[in-house]
Amino acid sequence: MTYKRKDGRKNDEMRSPIIAKVGIVPNADGSAMFQIGKTIAIAAVYGPKKMHPQHSQNPERGTLRCTYNMLSFSVEDRIRPGPSRRSTEISKITQWALDPVVMLNNYPNMVVDVHISITQADAGTRCAGINAAAMALAHAGIPMRDMVSSVAVGKMDKTIVLDLDKYEDSEFEDGEGSTDIPMSFTNNGEMTHLQLDGKITKEQLKEAAKMAQKASKEIYEIQKKALKESLGDLK
Ligand code: ADP
Repeated sequence: MTYKRKDGRKNDEMRSPIIAKVGIVPNADGSAMFQIGKTIAIAAVYGPKKMHPQHSQNPERGTLRCTYNMLSFSVEDRIRPGPSRRSTEISKITQWALDPVVMLNNYPNMVVDVHISITQADAGTRCAGINAAAMALAHAGIPMRDMVSSVAVGKMDKTIVLDLDKYEDSEFEDGEGSTDIPMSFTNNGEMTHLQLDGKITKEQLKEAAKMAQKASKEIYEIQKKALKESLGDLK
């Protein structure tokens, strides 16, 4: 039996709306928002600037430093402000997903700070954060060799489905079917990030990666359009 999605989406259909905007934090060097369904992420980039503390400086290349934070009002039950084990993990993951595309060789001892805030959380926040961060980096004029687009694939009751919402993410939490696989891709098709939480066969993992890669292309087009629109003011 195939899994029927509660919101009526096809198995390979992302949530809607998908909205991307650039330049939403005027004081930042670059900024962007990315919304998918009810999940909303904003990202602000500052830098390149001198790295502090000094002992963290890398004399070979500049450092990308990402900070992910879920705002206290982003879910119904207030979240305690401040770093948590989860936010530290997602900050690292975001950094690793974006590091392969940023070209900071000409910025030794410098840092590019990327602050990501989740204003509304309904699952898939790390992917939305990565999408917003990649756009904000491009908007800040940070040299990049490609864009990064991120989406999660899950396994619901043995069926592979794209872009779980909070209901789907929690529905099978204690059951055998609970699997969530956030992935990030360059537009060139290279995978820069994959996390696997749960169990999956090799065949299904391949199917999941294919589905996510295809969806990442759709996300890329939306990111590109938003960035192009922001350049419109230069005319
Ligand atoms: P992601 O948001 O990337 O899918 P998780 O799987 O850790 O990451 O979280 C899934 C969802 O669970 C979040 O998007 C959010 O809606 C909810 N959530 C996560 N942490 C908390 C929390 N501390 N309090 C309430 N809800 C949370």
